[in-house]
Amino acid sequence: MDVNTKLYGLMGHPVGHSVSPALQNELIRLYGLNAVYLAWDVETVGLEEAVKGGRALSIGGFNVTVPHKKNIMPYLTDIDDAARKLGSVNTLKLTAEGYVGYNTDMPGLMRACGYDGISFKGRNAVLIGAGGAANAALGAILESGAKRVLIINRTRERAEELKKRFETFYPGIRMECVSSGAEAVSLMREETEKWNAVQATSVGMFPDTEAAAVTEDAFYELIDSAVDIIYNPEKTLFMKKTEAAGGKAYNGLKMLLFQGVRSFEIWHELKVDDKYTEQLLDIMKGAMKK
Ligand code: NAP
Repeated sequence: MDVNTKLYGLMGHPVGHSVSPALQNELIRLYGLNAVYLAWDVETVGLEEAVKGGRALSIGGFNVTVPHKKNIMPYLTDIDDAARKLGSVNTLKLTAEGYVGYNTDMPGLMRACGYDGISFKGRNAVLIGAGGAANAALGAILESGAKRVLIINRTRERAEELKKRFETFYPGIRMECVSSGAEAVSLMREETEKWNAVQATSVGMFPDTEAAAVTEDAFYELIDSAVDIIYNPEKTLFMKKTEAAGGKAYNGLKMLLFQGVRSFEIWHELKVDDKYTEQLLDIMKGAMKK
């Protein structure tokens, strides 16, 4: 580090278990940049000051995580179209006028699906969840060209809100909301083709690893390929049930990796080579164990 070292980092609350510093500093090392990435625990009350302070100190960019992905938006000088559509920002890049906001969760999931050979184009898609992660997942599913989308969420109103938000941007796509696995199964059986799924609830996350948001075996029999957005444990009960019924299942670590990779690409204006993917995943797994 010297006087020219550029600073980047994460802000959220809490940030204590984040693997982003390990990932970003490895990317900085691989690309030989004079930069360093840190993490700051910022509470909502201090968010505006943090953005102003970042600009005053010429911090080149931030990742933004819960609970600030929406409420940071008023403090930004501009927001790119994709992030505006999602109503959520997870990446800030410093410009002469201030910070510009981007969302890399959605392209991160799309790149992860591409890497694992899952495509939603022309397919039936089922999304479980209607929170922040589901918002990015629905964007990815619709942007990829799914033909029919079913949203399952415990609180049906939240699923309806999510649907309403995206209907405006994707008017031709059939979207339905249900609040239980049983209701979902009866709609899914209308189709002869199997469904691709994204599990975007927090159910099944460590330490509650014996839980799954959908319990009906019939549901899993209708699944072709699935991503569980959770990455701890490495194999969730949702993934185990999908595989037991003959489907393919992947966890959310690659989504996390590729959202970080995309942020890095935005900050440093370069393209990260896919040849580093497995090496970067190992770095993240190592950081998770600490
Ligand atoms: P969130 O906004 O709080 O949403 C939580 C979702 O889980 C809601 O749909 C909620 O349903 C549902 N849920 C929670 N407890 C439930 C239960 N007992 N039964 C049924 N449904 C339940 O959280 P989030 O930010 O979307 O995060 C969700 C998960 O995604 C977390 O595990 C997070 O770590 C993970 N994530 C992964 C990545 C990645 O890059 N891989 C990125 C972001 C998040 P209700 O609406 O009914 O409450």
